[in-house]
Amino acid sequence: MDCIFCKIIEGKIPSYKVYEDNQVYAFLDISQGTRGHTLIVPKNHSNSVFDLSEEDAKAVFSIVPKLSNVLKKAFNPIGLNIISNNEKPYQTVDHFHIHLLPRYKNDELTLSMVNRMGEYQQIDYVDILDAIKSAMKA
Ligand code: AMP
Ligand code: ZN
Repeated sequence: MDCIFCKIIEGKIPSYKVYEDNQVYAFLDISQGTRGHTLIVPKNHSNSVFDLSEEDAKAVFSIVPKLSNVLKKAFNPIGLNIISNNEKPYQTVDHFHIHLLPRYKNDELTLSMVNRMGEYQQIDYVDILDAIKSAMKA
């Protein structure tokens, strides 16, 4: 399979390695969205969260607090965003990964959540929950 992150994990393509254990590999994003921007990936290839095993999810997510604290100590950011793009058009590399993005004053990164409070009525929430519960049953 022609996967750039698998090649990085195998050492066939160079990377700035931040962390490695039996299941997980973390390295600097080549495009530093902010200073310290780090990617965490499972060593087992999954395309996205939709085919990620629970075991790999545990391994990848369990390292998030430790690496976040390391970035905090290293760069003294004012905050940190954790994001993961899954499937096109947002995902550009089809090997599941989590972005750790330290945040700085005036860093010009825009990831703000839209506040839609007030736009939804009780009936809408019930509808949404119905859809989720039906999907869970199926
Ligand atoms: P996404 O768009 O969420 O799929 O993120 C993919 C990320 O991988 C982007 O932020 C890229 O800058 C990064 N990336 C692509 N190729 C490399 C590479 N060879 N080494 C490090 N990061 C990479
Ligand atoms: Zn891969």
